[in-house]
Amino acid sequence: MLPAMLYRRIPASAPAALIFAATLMSACGSGGPVAVADAGFDAPAEQRLIALTDLDQRVARVGWRLSAANAALCPTVRNSAGWLLHAASQYSPELRPHAVARFGLDGDLPGLLAVPEGSAAARAGLRRGDLLLGVNGEALARGPGRRAAAYEGVEANIRRLDLALAAGPVRIAFRRDGNDLSATVNPERACGYEVQLDPSDELNARANGERLFITTAMAGFAASDDDLALVLGHELAHHVLGHRDWHEAEARGRQTQTVPALAGSPGGAERQADRVGLYLAARAGYDTAIAPAFWRRFGAYNWRVRYPQWGHPSAEARARALEAVQAEISALQASGRPLLP
Ligand SMILES: [Zn+2]
Repeated sequence: MLPAMLYRRIPASAPAALIFAATLMSACGSGGPVAVADAGFDAPAEQRLIALTDLDQRVARVGWRLSAANAALCPTVRNSAGWLLHAASQYSPELRPHAVARFGLDGDLPGLLAVPEGSAAARAGLRRGDLLLGVNGEALARGPGRRAAAYEGVEANIRRLDLALAAGPVRIAFRRDGNDLSATVNPERACGYEVQLDPSDELNARANGERLFITTAMAGFAASDDDLALVLGHELAHHVLGHRDWHEAEARGRQTQTVPALAGSPGGAERQADRVGLYLAARAGYDTAIAPAFWRRFGAYNWRVRYPQWGHPSAEARARALEAVQAEISALQASGRPLLP
């Protein structure tokens, strides 16, 4: 469901300066670039691949769980298998041999990088490392031999899978340990937003109406899945709350180098997203009691969020507000009432 790697591979093999230029300054996480000891873009190729694919798997797992648990609240939903797919051809020549050796990839054929527990793909018996060969009796395209990183082939395969899933259960042909097998995937409804992991040292996450974005530095800082659910839940809440228009206005404001004119409203939007995001994380079964401590830790680590900026309340104000929301959630959980924000 979340081919984050598709989008991530482009900047991953691009110079770091490009990555910074492509990242927005003032999304929901924090603000400007902060030096973070992270997996490092100058690490040897294989270690870089392992670090990034590990983060991809975590983000996919948490993103899927949030999306599946909150389908009833999302304005856009779709049929999801829950898997995260990648292909050899999307990797740079430097990373590709490691990706092929480690994940058994071949050309444009989509391989399963993450299969979240409880997802439709997992229930169908699919596992990480399986290579998808066909859908509903038709072969997926392996594509031509490619040198440079290319996305169009695997994207076309993923589109075919998504179209088939949209119509209902699909018969999947796949290869595991050299054996050709098949399985039926019964998709489930999930929020219709992909999560994209952006390689960047900037501590940031954002939403744009179509996707949720989180940087590698932010995903790395969110040490547990509960932390990650808090961050991604906040971004998903912007979608649930229909804040897309505000984000577009904010982006326009940035382009013209002015502070967004909606000064009164973004802070309100951020507080709303914090509140609803905590509910979304709780509904997905995550421990949301960690939220106030997370924000205090984040404020101690990153001076940029210690004070109100770009319409965002300070980290301490957000921590205090979330204590109150957590009290509501705990009361609802204790009484067995539905967790509706
Ligand atoms: Zn936000």
